Amino acid sequence: MSSPSEVLAQARRRRTFAVISHPDAGKSTLTEALALHARVIGQAGATHGKAGRRGTVSDWMTMERERGISISSAALQFEYRDTVINLLDTPGHADFSEDTYRVLSAVDCAVMLVDAAKGLETQTMKLFEVCRHRGIPIITVINKWDRPGNEALELMDEVLERTGLLPTPLTWPVGDSGDFRGVLDRRTGQYIKFTRTEGGATIAGEERFDADAASDMEGQAWSTAVEESGLLELEDQQHDQDAFLAGRTTPVMFGSAVLNFGVHQLLDTLVDLAPYAEARPDSDGELRPVDAPFSGFVFKVQAGMDTAHRDRLAFVRVCSGLFTRGMVVTHAATGKPFATKYAQHVFGRDREVIDEAYPGDVVGLVNASALRVGDSLYVDKPVSFPPIPTFAPEHFMVIRAKDSSKYKQFRRGISQLDHEGVVQVLRSDLRGDQAPVLGAVGPMQFEVAEDRMNNEFNAPVKLERLDFSLARRTTPDWIPQLGRERSVEVLSRSDGELLALFSDRWRLAGVEREHPGIVLEPLVVS
Ligand code: GDP
Repeated sequence: MSSPSEVLAQARRRRTFAVISHPDAGKSTLTEALALHARVIGQAGATHGKAGRRGTVSDWMTMERERGISISSAALQFEYRDTVINLLDTPGHADFSEDTYRVLSAVDCAVMLVDAAKGLETQTMKLFEVCRHRGIPIITVINKWDRPGNEALELMDEVLERTGLLPTPLTWPVGDSGDFRGVLDRRTGQYIKFTRTEGGATIAGEERFDADAASDMEGQAWSTAVEESGLLELEDQQHDQDAFLAGRTTPVMFGSAVLNFGVHQLLDTLVDLAPYAEARPDSDGELRPVDAPFSGFVFKVQAGMDTAHRDRLAFVRVCSGLFTRGMVVTHAATGKPFATKYAQHVFGRDREVIDEAYPGDVVGLVNASALRVGDSLYVDKPVSFPPIPTFAPEHFMVIRAKDSSKYKQFRRGISQLDHEGVVQVLRSDLRGDQAPVLGAVGPMQFEVAEDRMNNEFNAPVKLERLDFSLARRTTPDWIPQLGRERSVEVLSRSDGELLALFSDRWRLAGVEREHPGIVLEPLVVS
């Protein structure tokens, strides 16, 4: 047993975060660079199995193998300056799905990674919205400064305009984008000069100089940096820890993941400024102290990884207490005991057993068929954490059983997938039970659903795409008006929400113009 003070000390050592970015902004490169600078403790199927890259590709599903991407969100744990950093993966690219959003319920902080040449892209903005909704503090990293891109001040304006967060740079680049020499450390006024290493494969050289030496060395590039940093000061763009934690400002740093520039500063920032694992509110809004007995919640369930065993892995974020493998915990939803004999930290090809975990850590529980996304687990004092919200679907398909004699299996499968949150199941009297509509954040969720219907539930299905891309919450009194609109459909979701579907935002705008006062509210992310 670990004493409460030991648990508190361990929780304070934890920084649990995710990188939010658009595909190709450099998330995988940054992840590898972070791991290079720190001591990797555990790797949970972390990196994408991109061609030519070392990567722990989890080959659980044929689909994953074929595409060389990982469907699982995974956690990478590493130690830096006596701090344990948990980096949770937010799947992107084709595997972008509701899971990507759900991961954000398990983190305490997010790093918004921005390509200097592209600025804030769509996927970044979607993930940002979820962070804002959850009040997650955000650190911004402007990546690829070694390549020609936007001006630094322009990028700061864009961050402010698009996110409403006041950017408070901690470092400021010396040299324009494409001519990355180093950064001005705005807190000390010192120059941190970077030196390239071959292919960025080793830790880049870094030297600190005072302003005079920097001026001699870099001339105009240094004076520009000092001048621009001065402009930021005039606008009060200085780091303020309370404003950052309250989600009003975002500390910004400049880097190049591929050259390993600025990675060290990011790690220091995570250690020095990012929040540690703190007490989380339960469903009644009461805080479960981190040194209370073990509790946690499931933020992701991965099924069908091992076809031989119908294996099911539930990822749990530890919220309080010490988790020890073998511990019998209570499943809050059913009140039943759950034995954690097969707790794992590292999974994928080499599953590695985990023995202990502290608040902020992620544990993978095997044989977790009883566990659902959002479920709470605890020992001793009962607790239920708030459910993870359902996100706005953007892709829709009608699903039907290929073989009508398999209708029973079909119904069972659909209800199971709905329950697990693999897809959202939408129904209406018009469509009937035999042809419900599936909604998803990412199209790959349909493939997972189809695969499981065919193989696990033995109910082969046909899917047919619907031409909708936008969902809005509405109320029953608007159904008649919406029903008369062309290419608009109202369906009810199993959580009771009534969703009106539109082909695009222009169609939505048209309907709103037509019916002043109509209730069409955005869902959590849309
Ligand atoms: P992800 O899709 O966000 O995981 O992006 P990757 O890490 O796969 O990077 C996408 C591409 O950008 C790859 O070709 C990387 O080598 C490249 N890249 C990543 N970071 C940098 C950077 O700092 N500078 C430059 N020039 N290229 C980068």
